Amino acid sequence: MKISLIIPCYNEESSLSPFYDELNNVAAKMESYEFEFLFIDDGSKDKTLEIVKAIASNDDRIKYISFSKNFGKEAAMYAGFCNCTGDYAAVMDADMQDPPSLLPQMVEILEQGEYDSVATRRMTRSGEPKIRSFFANAFYKIINKISDTNIVSGARDFRLMKREMVDAIVSMCESNRFSKGIFGWIGFKTYWLPFENVERVAGTTKWSFYKLFNYSLNGIVSFSDFPIKLSSILGVLLLLASCVTLVGSIIFNLVNQYFPQNANIAFIILFCAGLQMLMLGVVGKYISNIYREVQRRPQYIIAQTNKKDVVKKP
Ligand code: UDP
Ligand code: MG
Repeated sequence: MKISLIIPCYNEESSLSPFYDELNNVAAKMESYEFEFLFIDDGSKDKTLEIVKAIASNDDRIKYISFSKNFGKEAAMYAGFCNCTGDYAAVMDADMQDPPSLLPQMVEILEQGEYDSVATRRMTRSGEPKIRSFFANAFYKIINKISDTNIVSGARDFRLMKREMVDAIVSMCESNRFSKGIFGWIGFKTYWLPFENVERVAGTTKWSFYKLFNYSLNGIVSFSDFPIKLSSILGVLLLLASCVTLVGSIIFNLVNQYFPQNANIAFIILFCAGLQMLMLGVVGKYISNIYREVQRRPQYIIAQTNKKDVVKKP
């Protein structure tokens, strides 16, 4: 059995050496497994690539792919999934926030055969700025309300997966990638392994608040139609309100024998605004259908079969 570890690195010169030591420790404890350490240098501007090349020259388990510029962690993970060759694969941050020491336990759970992946989930957010935790929690609450895909709060990208699951991720070839959603969308049986949050071993986080905000918006748009449905809902509400003003002014007219002009104007404004919002929602529905088409996600994903030449991606 071969395990591929995909390690996206962006300016990680200070964490690579302790991280590599830890990888060696863990791999030494798992003698019966073959390892592939796939470092993806995401256009680092520091000595990351030099360090990776240096360790690769003495260790043939290490493969590296270096990007021409910084394409982001999502692109790095995708390159890793497309190029890994293991029977099992996992993404692992280079800063030890995804503890390599969890690996033996994760492999053990997969070997029992009941699950297709073992995902990790940090139970606390200690060491993280309060404001960042607040927005992160709000994001998970919102996206789980408005999306059919289950996106688990505190979930890390660190999860060990069987080959079938890796192939399914590769078949999700959309450009605006949001891996936490993709992992949920493709299904498969997942075991959740909780752990205490660990702080970065060295260096600093590569995610600014602005980057995270954009990333979460991308997640919402990729995995929920709700924002586009919102205009239809508002449209219907405004049309209902216009009906209320109309009925109200008719009753007022019957009782008082004159028609209130303000109510007349309110009706016209509410009716036109409602109609426009509703039509915007209709246009939005077509746009969202076009968006789903261009994402070219597979129509189905097979977890098991006994047919040899089964068509995997229609
Ligand atoms: N990373 C990357 N490209 C980027 C940003 C981050 O490859 O544009 C890598 C980074 O080197 C690290 C992992 O993704 O191995 C997670 O990043 P980081 O630790 O900065 O994120 P945090 O843990 O603070 O959410
Ligand atoms: Mg980190």
